[in-house]
Amino acid sequence: MEKHKISEADRIEASNLMEEASDILDSCIKCGMCKSLCPVFKTLKEERVSARGKAIILSDKIMNKVVFECTLCKGCEQKCPLGIKVCDAIRKAREAMVLKGKGLKSNEEMIDNIRKTGNPFGKNIGNDPEKLYCC
Ligand code: SF4
Ligand code: SF4
Repeated sequence: MEKHKISEADRIEASNLMEEASDILDSCIKCGMCKSLCPVFKTLKEERVSARGKAIILSDKIMNKVVFECTLCKGCEQKCPLGIKVCDAIRKAREAMVLKGKGLKSNEEMIDNIRKTGNPFGKNIGNDPEKLYCC
């Protein structure tokens, strides 16, 4: 797989995006009400994957792969008494991490496979649209 070269422009953009993500989450009062509807928290039972956990990490502008552990379902936003746009912050942090070459290897492989074969798993399905692959 071709290694993504990080330009100065990418670095600046990534830094700006992390700043924006942090600003969005700045007003979080850490009440934890967002946890009740979070499917990832319900499954993993780990505070760090909840919106509150992510808000703590992102408000310090820390790039952490936990931002990829989110379905972007907005359940947390429904429950948040302050109406914080958690998903906007998560999207910005993901974009920043990809720009800095800190995205998920599995995602990079999937994109590479789609570009080369049209299939996320890298198997050439030719012109047969009926042949779908699923995980
Ligand atoms: S519900 Fe909103 S304010 Fe409360 S912890 Fe979650 S994100 Fe922060
Ligand atoms: S958007 Fe992410 S953090 Fe918020 S409830 Fe859904 S999975 Fe959890």
